[in-house]
Amino acid sequence: MTHSANFDVDVLVVGAGPTGLTAAAEALRRGLSVRIIERLATRGTFSKALVVHARTMEMFTLMGVDREILDRGVPFAALNLHFNDRKRRVRVDLLDQPWGDTDYPYWLSVPQCDTEQVLEKHLNGLGGTVEWSTALQTLTDHGDAVEATLTSEAGTEVVRARWVIGCDGGRSTVRREAGIELKRTGAGATFLLADVKTTSDLIEDEGHMFLAREGLLIIVPMPEPRQWRVIAHVASAAESAPSAIDATALDNLIEERAGIQFGAHDVTWTSQFDLSHGVADHFRSGRVFVAGDAAHIHSPVGGQGLNTGVQDAYNLVWRLAESRRATPQRAEELLAAYETERRTTAAAMVGGVARMTSMMTSSLHVARHIRKTISPLILSRSFIQAKLARGVGMLNLSYSKRAMLRGSEVLSAGRRLPNPALRGGGRLYDRMDDSGFSWVVFGSSSVVFDPADPRWNGLPVVVLPDAEMAEPVGKRANSRVVLVRPDRYIAAVGATPESLVSALPWCGVAGVGASVDGAADNSIVVA
Ligand SMILES: Cc1cc2nc3c(=O)[nH]c(=O)nc-3n(C[C@H](O)[C@H](O)[C@H](O)COP(=O)(O)OP(=O)(O)OC[C@H]3O[C@@H](n4cnc5c(N)ncnc54)[C@H](O)[C@@H]3O)c2cc1C
Repeated sequence: MTHSANFDVDVLVVGAGPTGLTAAAEALRRGLSVRIIERLATRGTFSKALVVHARTMEMFTLMGVDREILDRGVPFAALNLHFNDRKRRVRVDLLDQPWGDTDYPYWLSVPQCDTEQVLEKHLNGLGGTVEWSTALQTLTDHGDAVEATLTSEAGTEVVRARWVIGCDGGRSTVRREAGIELKRTGAGATFLLADVKTTSDLIEDEGHMFLAREGLLIIVPMPEPRQWRVIAHVASAAESAPSAIDATALDNLIEERAGIQFGAHDVTWTSQFDLSHGVADHFRSGRVFVAGDAAHIHSPVGGQGLNTGVQDAYNLVWRLAESRRATPQRAEELLAAYETERRTTAAAMVGGVARMTSMMTSSLHVARHIRKTISPLILSRSFIQAKLARGVGMLNLSYSKRAMLRGSEVLSAGRRLPNPALRGGGRLYDRMDDSGFSWVVFGSSSVVFDPADPRWNGLPVVVLPDAEMAEPVGKRANSRVVLVRPDRYIAAVGATPESLVSALPWCGVAGVGASVDGAADNSIVVA
């Protein structure tokens, strides 16, 4: 690996949770030199985040860890929502929703410690090693490199890194040292969590949410047989939370709110916390970036924290790798777009989940009325249930507001590249390269395809005539050339490759790039 004398390593990743492990593994895969440090002495064994969503699974596929994650998980078949003191139930069949063009049409229940183990093994396979018991203390950005002071049993060490990625969680030292602010807003709600086995005959792969008078109760399946995650809102730590979250306390709570004789035993993990949420004011300061919980704090009720962190890391690292061959202006645009895209996404996620959590936990009369009468009506509508599939699965996420307008073209810059089923079996993604930029030509082609043609810039090209797709993609009859980013979002769309090459970071043209709201369809560039 070659690098300037100004730094010892391309990327210093601080924190070895799911975000840091993804960042380190992706950086190695993309040819960057990496150190990843972790303050703790060993990996935790707590289950913590339990849901991996479809879009995250697609990124795990690009990384090559999807099979192992799937082997450790179990899909949620259904979510049963119980309203009005269990007088009304709405069953959302999660496997039967219009998931569309993904290989992962479900919410996958897999404990965070398992996800982390898989990611760490993958990192090791790429030649990376977590440096345990090593903590970041200070950072100084000198403009051409960042100086980091680390402490470990061996003493104090100063490292010069080209970039630092703070994946060091909610109390991030990187964030503090970079002068980035994250204001937490208390949600005024205390939650308890427990991983527990049951003697009851709850259907193994279905989750339950009880909007009871005594408070919200969620019971969701874990991959191990008869093991469940229990999440309950308790009005305040002092008032109603059981002092010890043991089997008896859980049985009483579940019977009171759900009317189920749960028969709790083998309580393997418990936690109790006051809910708060917030988003950092910036995700970048010079050569320092924050990602995952260091950048945004979520309510665990939405199951989005881990997923958003992994997707932050994926979004950032391809930019770092590509910026090395970009002009200085294009490199700056490329890196600036990390904050534009991911901060906007995180703010929308955190805000949405906070509003939902507040609606489910508030004791205000209006909230109780909504829970009792309006929520069941809304949630029984099929188009709302469909949102629990593609929407919560993050498959509809777009980095262009224009592309999100109702009826807008699916082949638009900023959108996730569609992944249509092919008549011969498999999907488009199966035919694509999994590392850098690439081209896809949709539709009956007027573009003459010759991979050696310099117009393709030496990048992989997939040509997909309508006849090969189980369903045509996009509205237009004529062919569409699509430049695809390394994270499988669309960088630019047009009629010919030469009209789009300016979207490539190493083909810098002043004034093009880093826009999330471009003007004309064939000139929108979000790379
Ligand atoms: C009790 C609990 C339950 C949760 N339940 C859910 C859930 O059901 N669904 C969901 O989506 N999310 C849940 N979450 C949130 C989810 O766990 C986080 O969103 C996820 O862990 C974020 O990953 P991360 O890698 O960004 O940060 P973390 O997992 O917090 O990892 C940060 C790492 O950085 C290390 N570190 C910190 N400071 C330093 C330093 N100075 N030097 C070196 N290392 C450092 C820490 O030791 C830690 O290992 C839960 C969290 C908790 C605490």
